[in-house]
Amino acid sequence: MSEDRVPGFATLAVHAGAQPDPTTGARITPIYQTTGYVFNDAEHAASLFGLQAFGNIYTRIMSPTSGVIEERMAALEGGTAGLAVASGHAAQLVTLHAMMSPGDEFIAARQLYGGSINQFNHSFKSFGWNVKWADIDDVESFERAVSPKTKAIFIESIANPGGVVTDIEAIAAVAKRAGVPLIVDNTLATPYLCKPLDHGADIVLHSMTKFIGGHGNSIGGMIVDGGKFNWMASDRYPMLSQPRPEYNGMVLGETFGNFAFAIACRVLGLRDLGPAISPFNSFLILTGSETLPLRMQRHSDNAKAVAEYLAAHPKVTWVSYAGLAGDRYNKLAQKYCPKGAGAVLTFGVEGGAEAGVKVVAEVELFSHLANLGDTRSLIIHPWSTTHSQLTEEQRKAAGAGPEMIRLSVGIEDVADIIADLDQALAKT
Ligand code: PLP
Repeated sequence: MSEDRVPGFATLAVHAGAQPDPTTGARITPIYQTTGYVFNDAEHAASLFGLQAFGNIYTRIMSPTSGVIEERMAALEGGTAGLAVASGHAAQLVTLHAMMSPGDEFIAARQLYGGSINQFNHSFKSFGWNVKWADIDDVESFERAVSPKTKAIFIESIANPGGVVTDIEAIAAVAKRAGVPLIVDNTLATPYLCKPLDHGADIVLHSMTKFIGGHGNSIGGMIVDGGKFNWMASDRYPMLSQPRPEYNGMVLGETFGNFAFAIACRVLGLRDLGPAISPFNSFLILTGSETLPLRMQRHSDNAKAVAEYLAAHPKVTWVSYAGLAGDRYNKLAQKYCPKGAGAVLTFGVEGGAEAGVKVVAEVELFSHLANLGDTRSLIIHPWSTTHSQLTEEQRKAAGAGPEMIRLSVGIEDVADIIADLDQALAKT
C-alpha cells in the first residue's frame, strides 16, 4: 500500500497492528502463551525497567499478542495508544486510578451499565473516589456537578441498557470548561458506528467482551488514549505531571507526550493493580475484531427491523431504539451513529414485570443471558437480573423499569429473530 494512502476502517480492522510472525512466518498473530521475556543483557534489562526502551518484560504489563489488539483498537478509534486489560470493568478501574486520589470526585451519567453504577457507587467509594451522578437528558446537570475536586466525566456513547445516544459534543464542552478529561465507554457503539474521539472525548474505553470480540467467548477490556488532553496544564493529575518515585523521578506526562496516559495506565495501573488480559483472550478477540464492520452493520440493520416490528405490536407499550424514526434520540443517532444505532434495544411489554419474565421464558432462538454483543440474539429482563442490585429508583433512573426487556439483536436471519419474538409475545 502506498505511503500516503490512509487505509479504510475495514482494512484497519483486519490488518492494524498485525504483521506476519517474524519467527515462524505465521500470517495471523500467534498466541504467545508466555509470561516472561529474555533480556539481551543487563543494560537492556535496565533500560526496559527504566522505561528508556519499549519491550516485553512480563505479561502482566505487556505481551506480544495483546500488543496487536492494542494497536488495532487505537487505530480504529483514532487514538494514540491502546492498553488491553482483563475486562471492561478493569479498564474503568485502571483509567480512574491514573486520575483519582482519595477524596476526589468524578461525574458519571446515570444512563450506564448497571455493573458500572455498582462499581462507581460501592467499590470505588471504598478507595475514596466519589461519584456524582448527572443525566444525559439534562446537559446542565453535568455542569452543576462540577467542583474543584472533579477529575473526570464518564459517559457511554450508546448507553446501556440500550437504545439511547448521548450528546458527546455537549458533554465534551462541559469537560473542556472544567479542565477535565471526558471518558467515553464506547462498548455498545464500537468505533464502526461512533468515534467519540472525533467528537471531543479524551479517552475511550471498551468492554471487548461484547462487540469487539463479538462471539461471546472472551472477557477483555481496552483503554484508548486520545492523546489530546494536556495532563501537564495543572497539578490536578499528579500521576502524570509529578515526578514518579518508582521511575527515578520521571514525569510521565513530559516524557511520553501524547501517549502519556496510556503509559501511566500500563506502568502504574496495570503493573500495580494487576488486571492483565490473557494472551489467549487477546487472540480470540483479535480474530473477532477482523469482522467488526460486517457484524456491526448487520447487528444494526437487524435491530432496526426488530424495533420496527415491536413498535407495531399491540402488546408492546413502548420501544426505545435510537435508530427508529421518531425516537427521541433519533437526531442524536443520525449525528453520532449515522451507519446504524447498534444491536441493543429495549421495549416495554403490557403486563409489567410478570409479562417481561414470561416473554424471556418463551423465546427459543434468543438466549436468556446477561451479556450482549454476541453473534447470537440475546434477551434479558434487567429489572430482575443485571439491575436487581440497584434500588428501585436507581433502576428507573437507569431506564430499567419492571416491564422492560432488553435485546441484543444478533446476526441471524432477521425473519427468524422476529418470528421468535412473535411466538413468545403471542403466549404472553
Ligand atoms: N461497559 C458496558 C457498556 C458494559 O455493557 C459492560 C458489561 O456488560 C461493561 C462495561 C463491563 O465489561 P466487562 O463485563 O468486560 O467487565
